[in-house]
Amino acid sequence: MARNLDPKCRQCRREGEKLFLKGEKCYTDKCALERRSYAPGQHGQKSGQRLSGYGQQLREKQKIRRLYGVLERQFRKIFAEADRRKGQTGENLLQLLESRLDAVAYRMGFGASRAEARQIVRHNGVLVNGKRVNIPSYQVRPGDVVELTEAARAQLRVKAAMEAAESRGFPSWIEMDVKAGKGVFKSYPARDELPPTLKEGLVVELYSR
Ligand code: SF4
Repeated sequence: MARNLDPKCRQCRREGEKLFLKGEKCYTDKCALERRSYAPGQHGQKSGQRLSGYGQQLREKQKIRRLYGVLERQFRKIFAEADRRKGQTGENLLQLLESRLDAVAYRMGFGASRAEARQIVRHNGVLVNGKRVNIPSYQVRPGDVVELTEAARAQLRVKAAMEAAESRGFPSWIEMDVKAGKGVFKSYPARDELPPTLKEGLVVELYSR
């Protein structure tokens, strides 16, 4: 299955924002963005880089895409679905991204990073409403119960990830029973529950060109 294999910290430095792609390292002073907060490459340190309107839209789309670990073609498809649904396209887009099974597994702390949570899903470590689902793009619906299989729950890295997620606190749209390795996706997140740094309106503008 296709994945984005670009170096993770480089992706954050390109976007100028922490995308939390590397798990626990992202919360320490070893974070590459804390050390070198400029874009990668030979011209990365050029100051005052001003972006055109199109440039800003493109960067924001890349940022959101990289944050959720979705490739361009799939991102387009999600956008088309967001546009088709009732309500605001930008908000729908973020809700669709947050309700992907890999995103829900990450929010529930099944992996230290989105990539790790995605791997747990791919390796048959997750059940949705009691049934094994190993498709990261699977859309979780409000009320669905997502849980770890017994084998996945026994993995040390999963235990560590869940403890770390619990200490940081779970988002309001997730109800977790950490001991049971089980959670409920209560509802789609409201816009104000998601980071204000995401400017989904720019993605809508980009795709409406
Ligand atoms: Fe991004 Fe994490 Fe690397 Fe920091 S450590 S640059 S947040 S991936």
